[in-house]
Order: sequence, then structure tokens, then C-alpha cells
Amino acid sequence: MTKASITMLGTGNAGATRCYNTCFFLEAGADGLLVDAGGGNGILKQLNAAGIPLKRIHHLFLTHTHTDHVLGCVWVIRMAMQKLNSGKYEGPLHIYSHAKGIRTLRQICELTLPVKVTRHFDSMVVFHELQSGETFSVGKLTFEAFDILSNKELQFGFRTILPNGCSLICLGDEPCSPELRPMLKNVDWLLSEAFCLYADRERFKPYEKFHSTAADAGRMAEEAGVKHLLLYHTVDADIETRAERFIAEAAAYFHGHICVPDDLQTIML
Ligand SMILES: [Zn+2]
Repeated sequence: MTKASITMLGTGNAGATRCYNTCFFLEAGADGLLVDAGGGNGILKQLNAAGIPLKRIHHLFLTHTHTDHVLGCVWVIRMAMQKLNSGKYEGPLHIYSHAKGIRTLRQICELTLPVKVTRHFDSMVVFHELQSGETFSVGKLTFEAFDILSNKELQFGFRTILPNGCSLICLGDEPCSPELRPMLKNVDWLLSEAFCLYADRERFKPYEKFHSTAADAGRMAEEAGVKHLLLYHTVDADIETRAERFIAEAAAYFHGHICVPDDLQTIML
């Protein structure tokens, strides 16, 4: 059976400097989906450090157009097409997002990248504008994009069924809307933001920033009967002890498995 895994290329929030912005590579066999790309060319360093060559990246999902998610995509497109020009990258690069994501990414690229890159748009860089509920395929995996119903910024999450039959939902970088809670019922893997500890809410003000805490994510996962809870998009203060502190707080509410990965960590799904 094909094994699936997630390699975290970044785990931090927008302002993080001691880790990269949250983005990851979800792979099953030869196929993989890059989900967001962080805020700059740090994505190239992270891919390199993770041993994921650009030639493996043919599918990119953009959740929303905040700088810490979209700007790295410009670099992925640039470098992939530069490699294509020199015969070191084969086949199209597929980009998936909602209308605003596609429009914004394309516009930034057209304003900042040379023609030798942008001339490949719509042939070797294929932009797929998705509606909420629409699906797309990456190898044998099928992903369903959905609107996370943010009132801050249009954002899509996704869900899929892994080759081993486990279900996985990515909620992007905002707390789960109450309307989407039924979708989480008994999901095997839930990828959720947790900006900081509830205990540190006065220090980091997560609620003012439309973010949640490890305790909030733990409570949500427990209510939904989730099996594995993966937390990301955190503040980077005291990053050395982040995992143990976040796990301890979430575990007071959630009795399943909790994972708070570091950058470059691979999680077997
Ligand atoms: Zn973000």
C-alpha cells in the first residue's frame, strides 16, 4: 500500500523568524501536493533542506492570499519555470485556489517575474480556479476544496481520503467556523492552527487576530471525535519547548494523538 506523509516546510505564523511560515508537502507515493509556500524564497531553502526537489512539485494549493502563504508561491513558479527552460523540470505545474487566490497570485507573478517565466502561463503553469466543494486530483489522491467561511479573508481548506483509508482535513490558518464543525466528525487527521497557548492569550492576543489556542483546538478535536490532531501556524517564542507546551495544553481537553511538529519534520499519516 502507498504510504502517505506530510513534511512540514514551515510551522510558524506570519511574523515568525525562528521557523518558516506554515506550509507543507503532502505526499503519497510519487505524487505530492504543496500546500502554500510561506512568505518568500525561504521556501527554496526549506524544500532543499527537506530533500524535496522542485522537479517533484507539480501541484500547489494556495489557501489564501496573505503574504505569509502566497509570496513563496511566486518563487516556486519562478524556479520551476527557470528549470523548465533549462530542461530540468518536466510537465506542467498545477496551481489550485479560489478565484481571488488565482487572480492575486497570477497578478503578482505578472508584475514581478520575467517573460521567460510568464510565457509558460496557461501551458506549463496551469491555474485552476476552484469553487467551494470542487475536487482536484493529485495522482491517486482526490482533494475537495472548501470555503472555511472566514469573515477576515476568503480562504479554502481541503479534505481527502488517504491511501490507507484515513480521512484528513486541513482547516487552513483560522479557527474552524461553527458551521463546519459537523464536517470534522470522526476525522482521522485534523490539521488546525493554534496560534499560542490559552495560558498565553494575554501576551499574544490570539482572538484579536482571528486565531485560536492549543486549548481551543483540543476542545474542538475532542468534541468531533478526531483521532490525530496536528497543530501549526504558531508564534515562535520559546520554540525549543513549543511542542511539549502545546501538547500538554491541548491534551487537557483532547484524548487522541497530538502532533506539534517542528519545521522539516515528517509525519507518517
Ligand atoms: Zn497565515
